Parts: sequence; C-alpha cells; structure tokens
Amino acid sequence: MASQTPAPQQADRQLKLLVRIVALIAGAVVLVAAGTATSSGIDAGTALQAVALTALITFASLTSVRVRVGSNNLDVTWADSALLIAAVLLPPQWAVLCAAIGVGIEKSTRKLPPIKFVFGVAKGTVDCAVAAVTLALLGGTTQPPLEHLGPLALAYLAALITDEMAIIPVIALATGTSMRDRFLADLDLRLGSAFVRFAVAVLALAVLAAEPQLLIGIPAIVFSLHLTYRGRLRARAERLAWQQLAEATDAMNVVQMETVLQTAVRNGARLFSADRVEIEVCLDGAQQSVRGTQSSITYHGEPDQRPVDEATTAVVALIGDNDGERVGELRLCFQVPVALSEREQFTLRAFAGALCTAIRNAASYAQLEQMAGQHQHDATHDLLTGLPNRRRLQLDTEDALDRKRGGRGVTALLVLDLNHFKDVNDALGHGAGDQVLIAVAQRLSAAAGDEALVTRLGGDEFAVLLRNLPAPALALYQAEHLLSTLHEPVDVDGMPLVVSASAGVATGPCEGGFVELLRRADIAMYQAKRTGCSVAAYAPDNDTADRGRLVVGGMLPRAVAQKEFILQFQPIVDLASGEPISAEALARWQHPDKGMVDPRSFLGSIERSGLLTAFTDAVLDQALAGAARWRALGCRWPVAVNISPRSLLDRRLPALVTRRLDDHGLPGDALVLELTESHTVSQLDIVDKVLAELAELGCMIALDDFGTGYSSLSVLSRVPAKELKIDRSFVTQMENTPSAAAVVRSHLELGRHLDLLVVAEGVERDSQRHMLWDLGCTAGQGHLFAKPMPIEEVLALITADDGPVRLAPPLHDPAAVVRMPAKRAPGRISRATGTTGANGGERV
Ligand code: C2E
Ligand code: CA
Ligand code: CA
Repeated sequence: MASQTPAPQQADRQLKLLVRIVALIAGAVVLVAAGTATSSGIDAGTALQAVALTALITFASLTSVRVRVGSNNLDVTWADSALLIAAVLLPPQWAVLCAAIGVGIEKSTRKLPPIKFVFGVAKGTVDCAVAAVTLALLGGTTQPPLEHLGPLALAYLAALITDEMAIIPVIALATGTSMRDRFLADLDLRLGSAFVRFAVAVLALAVLAAEPQLLIGIPAIVFSLHLTYRGRLRARAERLAWQQLAEATDAMNVVQMETVLQTAVRNGARLFSADRVEIEVCLDGAQQSVRGTQSSITYHGEPDQRPVDEATTAVVALIGDNDGERVGELRLCFQVPVALSEREQFTLRAFAGALCTAIRNAASYAQLEQMAGQHQHDATHDLLTGLPNRRRLQLDTEDALDRKRGGRGVTALLVLDLNHFKDVNDALGHGAGDQVLIAVAQRLSAAAGDEALVTRLGGDEFAVLLRNLPAPALALYQAEHLLSTLHEPVDVDGMPLVVSASAGVATGPCEGGFVELLRRADIAMYQAKRTGCSVAAYAPDNDTADRGRLVVGGMLPRAVAQKEFILQFQPIVDLASGEPISAEALARWQHPDKGMVDPRSFLGSIERSGLLTAFTDAVLDQALAGAARWRALGCRWPVAVNISPRSLLDRRLPALVTRRLDDHGLPGDALVLELTESHTVSQLDIVDKVLAELAELGCMIALDDFGTGYSSLSVLSRVPAKELKIDRSFVTQMENTPSAAAVVRSHLELGRHLDLLVVAEGVERDSQRHMLWDLGCTAGQGHLFAKPMPIEEVLALITADDGPVRLAPPLHDPAAVVRMPAKRAPGRISRATGTTGANGGERV
C-alpha cells in the first residue's frame, strides 16, 4: 500500500475512477443476476424469503456506528452478516438482487450525495455477489451451517476482503491520508467485529435451520452486540483523543515560534481530523499566519486575508488566561460543514489554551533573545559610530595574537587620534564633532578591508586591528593608507572641514598581550604627535615605562596597598626674594628592588588601572599631612597636588578632598590642584561640576604645563583657574629661541589680564631667573632653588635658622624694594606673633 498522498485534484480524479469501476462491476453483476433470475423464475417460498432477507439487509445496514475521518463519515454496519445469510439462503442471483435492493433502500433513507449512494449500493452488491459465488464454487450446500463452517468462513472472508479493498482506497483518497494509515486504523477492533458479525450470521443460520421461529430473537442479540461495539469504539476514540492532545501539547513545549505554530498546525489537523488548520498570530503588532495539513505546512508568512467560510470552519480565539489578551486565532477547516462533538469541543478548548501559552512563551523567549542580542551588541559597540568598541578590540586582538586559534602572519595594532578635534567641538558644537567622528568612522571602515577591525576607543581616538599581515612593515603602509582617506574634507552641515590625525603602530606578539600592545601603539601615537609626523611605529627608546623594564601593571595593587608611593616636595619661590611661597607635591614610587621610580613611568598605568582613586587619595593625604606639619612650624605655604585628568571625571573627588582637608584641619585654600590643560578641556559636564565644587571649597586651581596643549585659551574661559604654570620647555629655550620667549611673554600678559599668578617651571640658571623677572614673572620653581625633597628636608629647612627660609639670594637689596601685593602671599607666619612675614611674594 502506498503511503504517499496524491495532490487534491489528482486524488479527486482517482476517487471518481475507483467509484466508477466498483459501480461498473456491480452493474454487470446485477445485469447477470437479473437475467438469470428472469430465466429461472422463483417459487413463492423463495420469494417470501427474498423479501424477508431484503428487509433484514436494510435493517442491518441502518444499525451503523459513525466514525468521522476529516470531512467524511465512515459507517460501520451489520450489513455483511445479513449479506452472508442472504448468500447462504437464496440462490446467488436472488441474493445479489436482494443485496442491491436492501442496501439501496437503506442508502436512500440517508440524504447522500450521488457518488456516495452509488458507491454504497455497488459495494454491498459486489460483496454479496463475491460471498454467493464463493459458496457456489465451494459446493453450494451450506446447511446445516455448523457442519459447513469452512466454506462459510471462506465466503465471508472473500466478501470482507472485497469490501476492504473497495473502501480503504476510497477513504484514503477522500481524506487525503495514506492507505496504510487507513488499513491500520482500529484494525484489531475491525477484525474483532468482523469475527463477531460472522459468528452472528452463523448463529442466525443455525437457529433458522433448527427452529425458524427463534429468528425473532436475532435482531435483539444483534442490537445489543451493536451497542457494545459502539461503546467500545467511542471509549477508544476518547482515549486516543486525550492521548493525542497530551502529545500535541507536549510537542508545542518548544521555544521557537516557528516550531510552535507548525507543530500546532500538524497536530491540530491530526487531533481534530481536520482537512486543514490555520493559525493566525498577532503579537506586539507583528502578524503571521501558518496553514497546513497533518502531513505538511502549505503556507507560513504574513496573513493574506483569505475569507473564512464560517459553515465549514471551526474558529477559536487564542486568548491568554491571565490577562484576557487576544494573541490570535485557530481555525479548523473542513471540506463540508462538520459539527464537532462535545468531546471534540472540550479538546479544542484545551488545545487552544495550550497553544496560546506556547505562543506567549515563544514570544517572551524571542524577546529575551533579542534583548540579549542587543545587550551583546551594545556591550561591544560604540553607540555614536556603530563601530565595535574597546572590549571587542580586546577580544579580537587576543584571538589574533593566539596563534593556536589560527592566527597567521603578523598582528598589528594602530591607534589613531584626531588632531585639533577639541577645536571642532569648541567652535562648532558637539553636533558637528559627532558628524566628524561618524564620517571618520565610515572612511576608516571603508578603507580598512575585511581582515582589519576598526574600533572607536573613545573621544577622538580610534584603533584598528590589522590581522594576518605578511610582514610587519605593511602595518605602517596600511596606517598611511588609512590616514590618507581623511585628506578629503569632511562635510559638516555644508561646511568642508579638514580633518587630520596622528597614528601609532605596534606589532605583536608581545608579552602582556592586548593591554601592552595598545599601550605601545598609544606611545607611538604620542611620538607621532610630538614629532609632527602622521604615523610612527613603536620604538622602545621612546618608552619610559619600558626603559625601566618595570612590569608596572602587575605591581601596582601591592604598591598602593603597601603605601610604597611617597611624596617629595619642591618649593615654588618668589623670584625676587628667593623665599618659598608654596610647594608642589611630586609622587615617587619607592620600589623595593628598583629604588625611587620616576612618576611618568607609572602614572599612565595607574590612570588605566582601577587604582586611580586610591592613589589620588593617598597623595592628597600625604600632601596635606606635609602642609599641616609646615604650618605647625609657622609656614602658611599651600601645597600643590597634581590631579590626573581622569580624577576629574570622578564625582567623588570633591568629597575626597573635603575629607582629607578636615582630617588635617586645613582650610580649602591650603590646597592647590594642578591640572594639565589637556584634561580640563574635556567637554563632559561632569568635569565642570567637579571643578566648580572644588573651587567652592576654596581650593585653588592651577593650569599645569600651560601652552603645550591645543586649546590653552579656550580652557581659561571654562576653568576657574587662579594660577598658570609655564611649561619647562619654554623656560629652558627662552634665552636662545625667540619663539619660546614670545610664548613666555604672552603667558605673562595673559596672567596679568586675567589676574592669575604665573609660575615658571624648570628654572635652573640664575640668568633664567633674571630674564623671567624682567619679563614680569613673580614666581618660579626649579633646581636653581631646590630639587624635590622629602618632607623631613622641608621641615629641616624651616627650622634651620630663625629668619625666613631663603632658597636663593634676593635679586635686590631688600631695603630698596617697593612693595606690591602679591597674588598669593602666604609667606611665613612670624613664629613669635603668628602674623604673615613681610617679604613673601612681593616685587618691585
Ligand atoms: P609636573 O607637574 O610638570 O612636575 C614638574 C616636574 O618637573 C617634576 O618632575 C619635577 O621634578 C621636575 N622639575 C622641577 N624643577 C626642575 C628643573 O629645574 N629641571 C628639571 N629638569 N626638572 C625639574 P617629576 O617629579 O618627575 O614629575 C613629573 C610629572 O609627573 C609631573 O610633572 C606631574 O605631571 C606628574 N606627577 C608627579 N606627581 C604626581 C602626582 O602625585 N599625581 C599626578 N597625577 N601626577 C603627578
Ligand atoms: Ca605639576
Ligand atoms: Ca608642569
């Protein structure tokens, strides 16, 4: 038996052909029978018997148990018992005619379509003919029946096989199921009932042979057997239905929406024996529709608004139990109108409930999955440019460096920083800055190629991971190529803006992995900026941290915890008198093995590690402790502390400063915070807030290394500074280089205009002191006066003799100077009176 189901039109054609064949055979049989009957004639007894048996066939056919298969009803009847009796008792021709008439009467009482009527009558007729002919071939006499059980059984079996052969293909074709399924459906029950029907027929024949009057009881026996059979069939159908429902709901216990819907369509079609099942889902505005049969899904997509035939479709709304929200609709479609039994309606409601839950679970799952995907994306991407971020860069770099995972060739990291980007933000606003960053991101991505990963590190800094390079030299070439894509001006609101960048390149592998590679590329980038070239490769000679061969990163936590960081103090002096007016605290790392370590070799690592707050706190604590000690000796010098740019992003900094001031019983103006200007230009609001809070505490703000950054002047308008420190590089060169002298002069001019104290850094020679003084500078710091020293040395200086502390002889005879108020005149408190000394911070 084929298990393939043919296409609907083809099935329809095959069905009609099959019915026609059965009808033709039956017609031929009836014609032969009628011919034989007319020629042989009939006696009165046989005629009476024929009438009675016709009635019996009609009655037996009427006692049916109906089973619905799809849109088709299958009737299981007692007709074959009656047909066998007729075949035994009547001559074959009359048996055939009785069968045709009896079944015909029964079929005409039901309002059947012609094709079903013809098929039913033809089948009954042929069944009977087969039984009669088999008996005739086996000898004819079958009375008394119990002695001829063999021929009787064979005749019945032949009729039964004929019947099944006709009915199985017809039902399979009509319902679109396989013949194998139809053959196996309830096979045991069908065989059992066939045996019972045969037994009943034999019993009836035996009774008739012994005592014809007893035949009266036969219909009662048949009827009770019929009821038993029907009950069995129903119980079984019920059990099967619940079992299938459990299976169907179990199968929907999956998280993918597609699987849920398609499984529900298939199982729904099977469970309710529907010709087609449709599910329409509408969740969060998104709609989808799935259609199909037991064996296949015929449509899955957007709802196509096909009209629903209410007569042939059972529709259930899918509504959530808890919130009553409608998530869609389940439709069972039949070819003809079908009334669902009570049991089927219960099952349908249970099925719809389970489907609704499964749909919502799948929707929640999809939502979770989508959110997880979004988080994953956000965690590894920059929101403004859409480029991958530092995290992704780290993962991919580590991957590329790890040769075991298939890394081939050379891995290089390129760090690229835009020049003068702050000016774009300052002059044109953040919107313009964002446009520039997006344009740069696009150009780099377009030019970088598939093997490269372009990422944004933050601000105006980008990094490009170059993988599988055939040679290290190609990294520089690639960097040049990427920078060249920025030559074309960027269009910002119709205005062409020229963008330039500096890039540093470092090639792997290197000990320390990604972090070290990034640090090296960073150093190379700064080298490029310093030297004014567009690209520089990492060179160990330029790497102060590397020169000391300190594996700084790993040692930091211990160093912070064990307080290995100490401070030295370098006095800032009044240029005229040579007396200190304040002191700058400079951090030193007293390394157990390496001795005193230069701050520039560990500050970067501290800034990058999570230890900055602890470090800043320790520095503030020690610096203010020092200030409190020299105050106790009568010196009111404020202490200047260097503050890292990143500390200004820390909201807790003002609170930290307040606590440390309180700890040492000092007022806010005992502390100067030195900021390098590149920090302070940070456009983040938080920096403004932190600075304003610090100024409110009374702390003074000094702009360190002034003139070395890009936007020195714009900074002054934003930062509440009281002091400006001219960078050592200008002081060193001012005597020989006119431009350096011009810078010093303009800074002093600026200081006068804005009423700022200007301090010259790195004063090493007396000539520099004189020149600065002549240019109008009042304060200086440098080896000429004192090198940074431990606190004990500072205290020793103060207590060395009774007069004021003097680190260089005064420029003029103290008696001949005209005194002017200084910007900062803490000077020295007379140890006797507690009043401020007369000469600090004044000039002629
Ligand atoms: P800076 O703030 O510009 O500090 C002045 C630097 O110049 C100090 O270097 C000082 O020792 C040096 N110096 C002073 N006078 C002279 C001179 O006459 N000639 C020469 N050649 N150098 C002189 P140092 O101590 O190595 O500090 C370097 C930088 O490290 C500082 O530059 C500052 O930016 C940073 N730094 C130092 N301590 C700290 C700290 O506690 N926290 C933070 N965030 N940064 C610090
Ligand atoms: Ca400083
Ligand atoms: Ca400085």
